[in-house]
Amino acid sequence: MTVLKDRAEASVARAIAGIGNGTLAGETCAPELAAAPWIVDLGVPGYGPGASKNDVLPAGSPSQGQLPARYREADDAELGEWIAAARARLGDRVAVMGHFYQRDEVIQYADFVGDSFQLARAARELPRAEAIVFCGVHFMAETADILTGPEQRVILPNLAAGCSMADMADIDSVEECWEQLVELFGDAPDAEGLVPVIPVTYMNSSAALKAFCGAHGGIVCTSSNAQAVLEWAFARGRRVLFFPDQHLGRNTAKAMGVPLAQMPLWNPRGAHGGLADAELESARVILWNGFCSVHKRFSVAQIDAARAAHPGVRVIVHPECSMEVVDAADEYGSTDYIAKAIAAAPAGSAFAIGTEINLVRRLAAEFPQHEIFCLDSVICPCSTMYRIHPAYVAWVLEGLVEGRVVNRIAVDERVAADARVALERMLAVRPDTTMAA
Ligand code: SF4
Repeated sequence: MTVLKDRAEASVARAIAGIGNGTLAGETCAPELAAAPWIVDLGVPGYGPGASKNDVLPAGSPSQGQLPARYREADDAELGEWIAAARARLGDRVAVMGHFYQRDEVIQYADFVGDSFQLARAARELPRAEAIVFCGVHFMAETADILTGPEQRVILPNLAAGCSMADMADIDSVEECWEQLVELFGDAPDAEGLVPVIPVTYMNSSAALKAFCGAHGGIVCTSSNAQAVLEWAFARGRRVLFFPDQHLGRNTAKAMGVPLAQMPLWNPRGAHGGLADAELESARVILWNGFCSVHKRFSVAQIDAARAAHPGVRVIVHPECSMEVVDAADEYGSTDYIAKAIAAAPAGSAFAIGTEINLVRRLAAEFPQHEIFCLDSVICPCSTMYRIHPAYVAWVLEGLVEGRVVNRIAVDERVAADARVALERMLAVRPDTTMAA
């Protein structure tokens, strides 16, 4: 986790605006991103412009109401003054968390910057913070609420900031899948004490799915400890049901020597997951058919082009990328792994990075001694992360000053208790941040 620095030159938001008005060269996948998110929040149902825009938004997803005009009409300087004044009034009663994938215009107000789990843990270590303003997406705010004390309030500045990948596995579909697996395999341990299936959910999932894992002998993983978590699961079960991200599951299990033939893909829309009993019986990892729209954009052709244009470039991608991309890269790893690999490299190194553009540009600004660029030359941020804007941050902070808690994310304690079990199992597992392709 890094503490805030001013890295204005890295701003993705300014680049998109510049491309849109013709003052900057380059290409963006969604020029509409230059508009304020509140225009999208009310006008277009869905995840909004950006990499996730074509994913289907589940019915019942939280939506953001109208942001008061005071904030919609303010300019950057006014918002900055209001945020600073509110922060000064609130002191350490409030902490602002900023995920790596947030735009710099938001990150500049963050007390802590990191990945979802680093931020949730940081929130837990701030007992004086009565309110945690979580600049990230919905499942992250839920995790922070699960891990923080009952008197602490977790606030998501824009309720429309979900995650299309997390939404690809809902609790009803996972329970339905589980019932079919129990029907096929039963749920009793075998002669070696191994149960038929252990559920493993990626951190990028709803609290309900984390609770499902806690209640069914399962566990949570992150992109930095997925291998250690799968080892934990294989020590307890014949096979794993891994959701929602098929790519993290496949890339991790493949690196552990699990053959692809033993990793069938469960399609929640198909009868029996679209799989034959024999495929499930021989499976070691049953992969859920989910993916991240941002990391899906990276391709082997982009890697080839980077190597042709920059001989000697080190290609590092996130494990949410497809197996073909991970196989073609020099290394793969979590956001934390990527940042540490860059920090440890000798000056003058060149890196082509396959992860969300806001983080890549911030790393490029933070490490000017290296050449760092995104594998995808098109500027296309995560559309849901992009729903957080300083205007929402100012709105929730001024609300706190006035004694109003707006956009609180509160996980039902019955759900939170089981989810905590799955998270604590993960915390007891050795982290593994040294993946390499
Ligand atoms: S980058 Fe992908 S996994 Fe992360 S919040 Fe966006 S859609 Fe979800």
